[in-house]
Order: sequence, then structure tokens, then C-alpha cells
Amino acid sequence: MQHDTKFIFVTGGVTSSLGKGIIAASLAKLLQARGYTVTIQKLDPYINIDPGTLNPYEHGECYVTDDGAETDLDLGHYERFLNVPTSRANNVTTGRIYQSVIEKERKGDYLGKTVQVIPHITDEIKNRIKELGKTGQFQFVITEIGGTVGDIESLPYIEAVRQLKWELDNDCIVVHLTLLPYLSTTGELKTKPTQHSVKMLLESGVQPDILVCRAEHALSKDIRRKLALFCNVEAEAVIEARDASSIYEVPLLMEREKLDAVVLKKLAIDAAQTHVNLSSWKEFLHKLHHPKNEIKIGLVGKYVELKDSYKSISEAFVHAGAINECKVHIEWIHSENITEENIAEKLKGLKGVLVAPGFGSRGIEGKILTIKYAREHNIPFLGICLGMQCAVIEFARNVLGLKDAHSREMNPATSSPVIDLLETQKNLSYMGGTMRLGAYPCRIEADTLAAKIYPTANITERHRHRYEFNNEYEQHFKEAGMELSGINPDAGLVEIVELKKHPFFVGVQFHPEYKSTVEKPHPLFVAFVRAVKEL
Ligand code: GLN
Repeated sequence: MQHDTKFIFVTGGVTSSLGKGIIAASLAKLLQARGYTVTIQKLDPYINIDPGTLNPYEHGECYVTDDGAETDLDLGHYERFLNVPTSRANNVTTGRIYQSVIEKERKGDYLGKTVQVIPHITDEIKNRIKELGKTGQFQFVITEIGGTVGDIESLPYIEAVRQLKWELDNDCIVVHLTLLPYLSTTGELKTKPTQHSVKMLLESGVQPDILVCRAEHALSKDIRRKLALFCNVEAEAVIEARDASSIYEVPLLMEREKLDAVVLKKLAIDAAQTHVNLSSWKEFLHKLHHPKNEIKIGLVGKYVELKDSYKSISEAFVHAGAINECKVHIEWIHSENITEENIAEKLKGLKGVLVAPGFGSRGIEGKILTIKYAREHNIPFLGICLGMQCAVIEFARNVLGLKDAHSREMNPATSSPVIDLLETQKNLSYMGGTMRLGAYPCRIEADTLAAKIYPTANITERHRHRYEFNNEYEQHFKEAGMELSGINPDAGLVEIVELKKHPFFVGVQFHPEYKSTVEKPHPLFVAFVRAVKEL
């Protein structure tokens, strides 16, 4: 069924952290399950150009797309739900909007006009939204507006939504996500905060078409009627969003509440023409909820206080666990607290360890101690990015006998930089800055563990790092038993290292976690979980 691209905006009211990203992804999943092509975009009202420079404690994980954009972690949810890659165009910040407007102003593109928030900033926002529609690849573009209605920073975005709603008429709707707090003293869900946040939207000229209400309890008919009456929406457009045991349950909850059907109706599309096919999704959920085994894996990192810092890794374990019919429990271990004395205690009872990515020298020695312990005690190990680099440093120090082996990043003065900022990096085209960002090809060497794990010999994986394995040491490592099993074919960079005489010891320079989705769990995570399970 051909029609113009439809635009769906998702705004949030009452409080932050209501899960707009999951609601947007769930709605997208339902539309996709009806056979439509869908993409999701996140507009972030902060002034950073992208979240690349943000400390993970501030904003959780930085998610990297194939085209090398450093983006908001919600894009990870979009990819995990839809199994369709996102790109730079899927995440726009206020910083990026202002940057392009100011660049245009300097070039004289505004022909001497006074450059203002309205219309110049709002036009730029509208262009970024419509751009995804113009690609012709998507029947639906769902745009999530970051922040909460009423924030000063969000105002230009809400104004852009108002204008688009007016311009696009039937091709555009607004879904507003709110919270109905539960008062235990009276035993009721309260609607007033929702009424106020809808009023706030109305003050900006935006009438939401659908309300999605987060609540700890069921919404009675009365509550639905009250919200409909006071917020000018139809009663069927008041959608209940109860807390779910897993984010992956939310598409089913939304289907039960008929969110997709109401959305289609509002966009004048006959919902009866298509039906939701979520059979493989339900199969995944069934496996997720009926594991036959349980394992405990240690995740060693330095941002463990905020689990969102490792969102894609923990979700990759959910996907890999489900396909293995195995519940993966993650024990979060702070690398700074690990010492030679307590390492055995810290890793006690853990059947596998993952050493996480990271930047800077804090917590490095704890990661290296962990890897030594895993190597010597045959504990399955997966090292990602800095985790792989630490595995190389550990091997150089303790097997090759290069006692001062280090990374030039952590110790610029070291005479044995086994992890270095290599000259060869310059042969690679960079998207920006000095980081190797986005998807790069990797050739898997025959007769290696990696070759057993990956279905094909030529793969691409996403990167986000500055430093590389120093190829001057290649021969030493190989002779001592560390295999270099994945190589970037263009620049000869080492992408995967592994140990033969070990049940599972793999370090990867790239970030496999970014590519794990419900439909396609990442082969490295799947193999790691299997190795731990079968130990
Ligand atoms: N800090 C290391 C580098 O830049 C590793 C980065 C990472 O783990 N993403 O090479």
C-alpha cells in the first residue's frame, strides 16, 4: 500500500525517564510487524554537537552507528527492536542545529536577514525531520523529542512540531507519554499532572492525538473517560502503559492496548488491511522467559555504578541468553576495586568475564589483573575494545616478559607500547576527529575460533577508539600463542585476538554489542554464552 511518509511525534510530560524511547521503538515494531517500513529519530535538546564527548555517567552509553555517528543510547533500542540500521540523520541535537544555522549565516545563505529561533532554527529542525521522509525508504518516521514538555530547551522543537502538524495535516500525529502517579492513601491513579502537561502542550499550540499513560495500576474506564474529556482526545486514544518485566514485552502490551491501530486510524489508514505478525518476536520472548540454564558473568568496567553506560552490552547478553535458552546474570565489578589480593574473591562463582570498553587510565590495572586471572584459570573471557587492548598488554607483560608493556594512551613514556596510535591508522578515512568511528571491514583468518564463531570470513563491525595493536610486535605475539584472528584488510590492523590453549579467550578491537538485535543476536555473544554454559 503506497502513501506519503507519515510522521509520528513522541513527546513526554510530567517527568523524565518514562521510557519514550521504548514506547517509540515498540510502536515502530508494531508498524513494522504489519509490513510497513519505519525509522525512528531522536531529537535531543542539549547543546553538545553529539553525545560523543559526554561522560557515560552523564548520559549513559554513547551508541555508534554504521556511518560513524556518536549518538544517544535510544538509537541502540531502535536498532535492537527493528533490526534496521540507523544513521547520523537519526539523532539530531540542538548543538548540531545551531551549528548548521550559524554556518549558513556565515556563508551568507540568509541573504542579510536577521537570523532567529523562529523561523531559522525551527526550519532547520523541520528539515532534519523531513529529510528522513525524503529518502523514500520509510513509510513512517517516528520522531522522539528528548526532554520533558515545559523545558525551555524543548520549545523550538515543540514549535517545529506545531508547524509540521499544521503543514502536513493528516500525515502527522503527536503521541504524548505521561505518568499517572498512584496515591496509596486513597488507592487512586491521579490524572492532574497529565492534564497539566497536556495544557502545557496546548499553550504551544500542539494538541496531542494519543496519550500513552505510564501507570503502576490498570486504568479504569472512568480514568480513561476523564483523561479523554480533559485532554481532548478520544477515549480509545488513551493508552495504558503498565510497568513490564522486560522492555521487549512492551510491543505486546502496546498491541493489546491497540496503540498501532489507533495510530493508523488517526493517520487515515485502514488498519484492517494489515495485521501484526510478531511470531519471531514472541518466540524470542518465550525463550527469554523459559530459560533451561542460568549463568553468572562478571562485567568488569569503571562506569558500573550507572548500568546505562553498558546498555548495548547488557542487551546483547539478553539476546544471546535467549537464543541459548540460558538466563545470563551480570555481576557488575568495578575495575578500580580489583587488586592482586582480592581478585580470586571478586571473580568467585563467575563462569565468565567480560572486560568492558573505556577511556583513560583509571581502572586499567584492575582490568589487566582480571584478564591474567581469566587466562590462567581457563575462565571464558571476552574483551571489548579497551578490554582487548588490556588483554594484549597483559599477554605482553606476563607471557612475552615485556614488563613495562603498556598503551601509549595510558603511558606516553613507555618503551613497549603494545597498544599504540599507529601510523597505519592514517590510511583509513576518518569521519571526524582522531577516532576510528563506525563500520570497518574485518577479514577472519581460517582455522581460528573467530572463524567458527562468524558465519562468513568477511565481516564489518563498528569501532570507536583511537589506539591500535602495534604491529611491530605481531611476530612475538604469534610465536607465544596469541592468534591475531581478525585483520582490517585495508590497513592491516589487528581487530581480533584469541588464545588457542584456552576454552574461550577472545578480544575484539571493535564493539560487537552495537550490532546485536533481538532478531540477530551477535555471534560473539552467542558463542561466549554457549562456551560459558557448556563449561
Ligand atoms: N581508549 C581506548 C582507545 O581509544 C579504547 C576505547 C574504547 O574502549 N572504546 O583506543
